[in-house]
Amino acid sequence: MQQQTHSVPGGQALPTLSSYVHSHQVDDEVVALYHPFGHEVALVSLPVFDLLHRGDLQRVPSAIYEDLVARHFLVSEAWDRSVLDGYASKPIAGFFSLWLIVVQTCNIGCTYCVVEADTQPNTGRMTPEVAERALEVFRESLDRHRQPVAKVTLYGGEPLLNRPLLKHIIPKIRALSWAGQQAPIEILCFSNGVTYDEELTQCFLDHDVTVGLSLDGDKTINDQVRVFRKKQGTYDKVIASYQKYRAAGVRVGLSCTLGNHNKGQLLNVVSHFVNDLHAPSIQFQVPIQVADGSPNYLNMAVLARETLDAFELARSANVEEGLAMRRLTAFSAGRFHHRDCAAVGGELAVSTDGTVGPCHNATIGGEQYFRGNVLDEGFNPELLPAFMEWHNRMPINMPGCHGCSAIGLCGGGCPYNALLAAGSIWHKDPQQCGYMSQFIDWLLEDIWARYSGKPRPEARNWNTQAQRISSVGGQERRRAAQHQIPVTRID
Ligand code: SF4
Ligand code: SF4
Repeated sequence: MQQQTHSVPGGQALPTLSSYVHSHQVDDEVVALYHPFGHEVALVSLPVFDLLHRGDLQRVPSAIYEDLVARHFLVSEAWDRSVLDGYASKPIAGFFSLWLIVVQTCNIGCTYCVVEADTQPNTGRMTPEVAERALEVFRESLDRHRQPVAKVTLYGGEPLLNRPLLKHIIPKIRALSWAGQQAPIEILCFSNGVTYDEELTQCFLDHDVTVGLSLDGDKTINDQVRVFRKKQGTYDKVIASYQKYRAAGVRVGLSCTLGNHNKGQLLNVVSHFVNDLHAPSIQFQVPIQVADGSPNYLNMAVLARETLDAFELARSANVEEGLAMRRLTAFSAGRFHHRDCAAVGGELAVSTDGTVGPCHNATIGGEQYFRGNVLDEGFNPELLPAFMEWHNRMPINMPGCHGCSAIGLCGGGCPYNALLAAGSIWHKDPQQCGYMSQFIDWLLEDIWARYSGKPRPEARNWNTQAQRISSVGGQERRRAAQHQIPVTRID
């Protein structure tokens, strides 16, 4: 490697590699560096990485050194300490996503559900009065904040157990309008797919409702966990509904909960969804911790790579998978991803009796956050402490996340899972850190593959190799030293 030195103004300490920098070996001789402030990426040769790692900056070639300083890979300690101040984010005011929990019960008993099949609460069904008041409270908030776009999700339990309410409220949702509106309201109805109603399908079609059907894989996989109370599988019923919706022209996406039942099978799952079912969109759902544990629960650290491989497969067929996509969108836009779900800003969940809270799942296990009722006179949920607390729950406000290189893409995962698993929304979601670190590794490999034009089939063991190289050195470093790859900006 050509040796160069560069001048450092007298008396000034050399900068150091920011504690926010994440490094990952992406090829035999290449290490990719990433930091979250502007989502900067640099590609350096192994010898240069070694110099950076050891703090031997005088020997880093000048052009590389200057580029790394300019893009804040090399920073002063003071910069590192204060950088988050520039990324503070105000809590989101008002709502743009209304979730109507139209019924709390379900007609099947998935083995990983927060609602155990035998102990489902019977908290009634949402009435037209509650739904209409919820819509009005939501419209007032949209008006107040002149929201450009909005979405209403019909949810349960199984929402199709309250079909009269759906048929009543959907036309009213479609007719909703407010000051500042820039697009038609989006309407989504989740369903487990075991009930099908032709009249409701026509209603979905007439009012442009998208249906999100839950399916965890092919028949063998799905029927291990998504079962009726007597344990028979639901696959055949779901597929029959899916085909009818498609034939009728209703837009349908598939929602796939991850877990032990589909671990090791996700490529087959995506292939089934894309090639056999021609699904236009897929959403992986991260498993959450249920009260008594679930045999299907799996930590995302174990599944992350597989979900990303599956994402790639879906992407190659032009099918969107949301879990990875929303972070890639933030990365591509250079946007700091403060929140990963609307419960941290923008969501108004209304339970069957009209009480409101920040997360549609937290009606079970997060009851303390459901306060106030849409039926109350002059009700304004924006002023409730629960929303104020949840809307501040971002990694930027969580000391345990400061210094994390994933802080600009993470969004903090699921506060509800943190609540169930660790007793407070302010704890880290135990699903998140393992996933994020592997997401960034995968992202850097993806960037390198695009930049170099090389496929990345052997990428799986690079991380281990990088650790060995940086801690042991030796032959690999000397071999790598024969190749110099300049720092490169990837736009
Ligand atoms: S807190 Fe968790 S369960 Fe609730 S909306 Fe967010 S991601 Fe979903
Ligand atoms: S939750 Fe984990 S991955 Fe996310 S910002 Fe915090 S420490 Fe980083």
